[in-house]
Amino acid sequence: MATYYHRAAHVPEVDLRPPDPSCPICGHTERIPRYELQSEPEVLLLGCPRCHVASASRMPTEEALDRLYGCYYAGDPNPGGSCTFDDPERLGRAIAREYSPRVDRDPSLRVLDFGGGDGTIAAKVVQALAHAYPGGGEVTLVDASGTPPTDAEGVRFSVHRTIADAPEREFDLVIASAVLEHIPYPRPVLLSLLEALGGGGLFYARTPFMLPLARCMPTRRIGRELLCYPYHVHDMGDRFWDGVLEVLGMAGEYHVRRSRPSIVEQTMRRHPVRAAAARLLKAGRRLFGPHYRLVGGWEVFVERDHGEMPAGGDRR
Ligand SMILES: [Zn+2]
Repeated sequence: MATYYHRAAHVPEVDLRPPDPSCPICGHTERIPRYELQSEPEVLLLGCPRCHVASASRMPTEEALDRLYGCYYAGDPNPGGSCTFDDPERLGRAIAREYSPRVDRDPSLRVLDFGGGDGTIAAKVVQALAHAYPGGGEVTLVDASGTPPTDAEGVRFSVHRTIADAPEREFDLVIASAVLEHIPYPRPVLLSLLEALGGGGLFYARTPFMLPLARCMPTRRIGRELLCYPYHVHDMGDRFWDGVLEVLGMAGEYHVRRSRPSIVEQTMRRHPVRAAAARLLKAGRRLFGPHYRLVGGWEVFVERDHGEMPAGGDRR
């Protein structure tokens, strides 16, 4: 089993669910084929004209996903844990910068890290906000891999396999970094993650937005490597995230605070070629504006509005 899947891989018929005609986010049934992820059996990436997610026409079965992720973590090349980010501290600071601590805040920051592996990113966010939270952070880590949490000063973890296992509470920050694209039917997950925010809380998600880039590649083989099926079963870019609250019926209580090309995953020190290429591609958005979509990844910050104004004012 150890070599069953690598990066983009061919999935045999026995490991595929039947085709589902409806969009896994909004239910729309008239989707548009945008890329052939594999042939025999054919799996297409279908673009939804309503919510703008692009999703695989056929999802891997539960058993195939278990095998896939069993291998993914067992073969993890990163000795620091299951984090796919070269410099998690930089990502932690970037998330922390967008968060405005409440005036009437508790002494500890409450973070939900969904699909967070060993919780490194959440721990870095807590440490980046240590000036505002002398009590450190309480991180609820939800990850199917069961990876033990990282040891980080000022951070207390509780670890759960699914969201349903985690005790219900309100969070200041909810992180879903590079995880939604792996979930065949992510709508209920996305709803739970947004609903887990307290007033003034911030949701962060980072997803692949590879389809425009894949379509520019000289061969389908390279395009397929970029799209990384069956690891990634969705491509979620600018239009998806810009409209997500309307699609989910949550626009009244939440707003998109920031929606932009995602932070570059690689550092010049560890992956110089990939880091330079990613920076160049993402810089195109600033140069050419919203028609330029060859950015490879997207990130969004969604804030939950304050309901009742908390005593002592709103936010900083
Ligand atoms: Zn849709």
